[in-house]
Amino acid sequence: MRTEEGGAALHPDVERVLLSEADIHARVAEMGRQITRDYAGKKLLVVGILKGSVIFLSDLMRKIDLPCEIDFICLKSYSGQSSTGVVQLLLDLRESAEGRDLLLVEDIVDTGLTLNYLNQNLMTRKPKSLEICSLLDKPDCRKVRVNAKYVGFKIPNEFVVGYGLDYNEKYRNLPYIGVLKTPARG
Ligand code: 5GP
Repeated sequence: MRTEEGGAALHPDVERVLLSEADIHARVAEMGRQITRDYAGKKLLVVGILKGSVIFLSDLMRKIDLPCEIDFICLKSYSGQSSTGVVQLLLDLRESAEGRDLLLVEDIVDTGLTLNYLNQNLMTRKPKSLEICSLLDKPDCRKVRVNAKYVGFKIPNEFVVGYGLDYNEKYRNLPYIGVLKTPARG
């Protein structure tokens, strides 16, 4: 078990670090370079899925060396540590998606229900293209198929927090991704 992350003490509720700040930053830079190559000559509309993607999105955007716009959409499917299975749209895009090259940015794909819902919803708005970029992927939990073109890390079926990911709105500001201790999960 690691007790430190980048010289700082580990949060007392975190059992272990799964991905360090350095691991995350290196991978995000690589993803930015790949997206820059793939979208050369296009005008990207980057769509962040609130709230979990905000930290990933803000780091990723600065590694995309192309003109790009940003918009947000807010969905809810989780309560505490489990997916409710019902996806609710809480906030819609302000930009029109029609004819745009959309890149959906998500923190983690778990059951796939959120992205499946969003993919179907956004395709009805006739974008020119629609791709998914997720920092994390838990492939063992999938209930519906999701084609994410860009995935940062595949991780085991454990509940993780940090770098934007929460547990009941806590821990989003941890700079690393870690597994919570059991008592912290109440
Ligand atoms: P899905 O619809 O794919 O089951 O779930 C996607 C959403 O569930 C993510 O955007 C995230 O909010 C939440 N989620 C899934 N797994 C985890 C996890 O391990 N940790 C946290 N904090 N949220 C998760």
